[in-house]
Amino acid sequence: MPPAQPSTTPRRKKGEGQWALGYRTPLNANEQVKRDDDGLNVRARILDVYARGGFESIDGQDLRGRMRWWGLYTQRRQGIPGGQTATLDPAELDDEYFMLRVRIDGGGLSLAQLRVLAGISTDFARGTADITDRQNIQYHWIRIEDMPEVWARLELVGLITTEACGDTPRTMLGSPVAGIAADEILDGTPALEEIRRRYIGSPEFSNLPRKFKTSVSGSPRQDVAPELDDVSFVGVEHPEHGPGFDVWVGGGLSTNPMLAKRLGAWVPLDEVPEVWAAVVSVFRDYGYRRLRNRARLKFLVADWGVERFREVMETEYLHRPMLDGPAPTPPRADERDHIGVHPQKDGLFYVGVAPRTGRVNGTLLGQVADLVESVGSDRVRLTPQQHLLVLDVPGDRVEELVAALAALDLPARPSSFRRGTMACTGIEFCKLAIVETKARASAVIDELERRMPEFDAPLSVHLNGCPNACARTQTADIGLKGMVMTGADGEHVDGFQVHLGGGLGLHAGFGRKLRGLKVTAEELPDYIERVTTRFSQQRQGDEAFAA
Ligand code: SF4
Repeated sequence: MPPAQPSTTPRRKKGEGQWALGYRTPLNANEQVKRDDDGLNVRARILDVYARGGFESIDGQDLRGRMRWWGLYTQRRQGIPGGQTATLDPAELDDEYFMLRVRIDGGGLSLAQLRVLAGISTDFARGTADITDRQNIQYHWIRIEDMPEVWARLELVGLITTEACGDTPRTMLGSPVAGIAADEILDGTPALEEIRRRYIGSPEFSNLPRKFKTSVSGSPRQDVAPELDDVSFVGVEHPEHGPGFDVWVGGGLSTNPMLAKRLGAWVPLDEVPEVWAAVVSVFRDYGYRRLRNRARLKFLVADWGVERFREVMETEYLHRPMLDGPAPTPPRADERDHIGVHPQKDGLFYVGVAPRTGRVNGTLLGQVADLVESVGSDRVRLTPQQHLLVLDVPGDRVEELVAALAALDLPARPSSFRRGTMACTGIEFCKLAIVETKARASAVIDELERRMPEFDAPLSVHLNGCPNACARTQTADIGLKGMVMTGADGEHVDGFQVHLGGGLGLHAGFGRKLRGLKVTAEELPDYIERVTTRFSQQRQGDEAFAA
């Protein structure tokens, strides 16, 4: 046989599945599912078929794919160890119960909404309810048979689960103090409401390459972690045009973390929905659909650069140039949460409290609702730090409310450990998890408060059950990524890879992942105590950990 000759025809470069370049044939199973049927259509089947037929009646593609378009994921079957996750068939991992996310764009809730959320937790979710770092409420133990009633109750008070998960524009973050903060540049709430009205649940954006995260905050504290979203509208004062937003694109964490980049464009409040739609359209049409792990917008932004990204937005979607604008001033990272008692611009006060890693329950939410009502307020807000704010509190009722909330283990003057510790869902319910997170974080908080009652420096400790970084591993002072380790006796134990010194705002950057810097779960309190003690000894003035 003659030796093979080198081909003279140049090899065609593989595309990344971008629709705008003509790749309309699905290149993987996820794209095929989305092509076969829009995820939004599964709602009708849930109501008409699955809620009546039960878990066994659910089509496999719907179960592990389209259900997410309505905020539903199967939860992890109880008792499966983290180390086994990768080797199991999905059916072995799936429980017949669901996690359900309720979409709360901007985190704002009325008393009536809070009471409905509390009731659903008690009646259908075995009391579970977590405040997530995307300002959602997340339930567990939901049965498909109960979804018609759950949706009916939510919709009665204007709450939805539409596109709370899936390859869609998910719950949008908004400043928890929008409209009330004395230092606000502008209130972004009308933009969030208009985006939701025009685009959420619309087939125009119900098939994106991957999830799409948005934040809009007119607070100078940049209190929504805008560095980490696919698109962020960041409040800034334009020297000629006044208050508006600086546009950032392409942020995201997980295994290839990237900070969002400025487009250099300034957008007034009423143009935010149109500009948002242009960014999402670029993502829909030019985003990479071949490989799921290259599909987030950040990869396109990294490959193109912001100049080209802005040019495509302007020429192909907006059909006009955007105004150039100034960069906002980065805030200190420890100025971002809203814990404590603060004056509103109207003379009332808001009170920010720290539940343990966002974990609340139906009974507690009901008790909070009663307290809120008793001081004459009708509003609470959830924050991207898994905290809760009570708004509109008269000055002479503040201390009474603070004391009553503290009695419910919701401190407005928490320790640094309680205030700055976040945790993702972890192995209790998440199918991707390797280790336990929430209960562990709670125990670590208790232990550190006991050992270091005087420690008062701002500190962020983020526990994550796997490399997906849902609780922002890389941007914490002490970021913890769950893994299985070998213990002293050679047995497998829960542990964490440590990322040290990450931050947002003034000190935005990813924590150092030092080789060998791994701690077992058991060693965690000792390790954090060592690091924080060293920091306290070397701290200059009110220096932040990440400085
Ligand atoms: Fe699940 Fe991993 Fe996200 Fe935690 S970080 S919620 S374990 S996917």
